[in-house]
Amino acid sequence: MSVLESGIRVFECPQCGQTINTSLSQCPYCSAPIDRQAAEAAATLTTKVSEACNDASYVRILAGSLIVFFFLALVPFMGLIGTVGYYGLLALVPVLIIRWWVRFFSLRSDDPDYRRAKRNVVIALGIWVLFILLTSIRIAVAVAHMGRG
Ligand SMILES: [Zn+2]
Repeated sequence: MSVLESGIRVFECPQCGQTINTSLSQCPYCSAPIDRQAAEAAATLTTKVSEACNDASYVRILAGSLIVFFFLALVPFMGLIGTVGYYGLLALVPVLIIRWWVRFFSLRSDDPDYRRAKRNVVIALGIWVLFILLTSIRIAVAVAHMGRG
């Protein structure tokens, strides 16, 4: 049985910031009384923040893979895989960035992990914009060449 299924979830004590769980009525670290409803709300936020972090790292890794596929497309025999992977990622990354923004941007959290997650998404966006520009230039150059015959 997972932690989620058992109904016990973790959150940070509003008093001392230690990670504790929702089954407690008192913080074991600072003895602050724990309000059930506030604890559940805090636990929901914690779950969302950790989802946001995982998602953001994933998006950033995918955006980073654009670099790999971009060069893979230039390698003999790997060109097709590289090209398919490259354009697939080029289409996928902005979808994931938008999805992240919709799901997590409004989270009210000053958790440093959440700030890092946001930065990861911004970096992913930066990488994607760079490759969109690069690809546009490449296509423009190719079209110009064709025009000259
Ligand atoms: Zn505490």
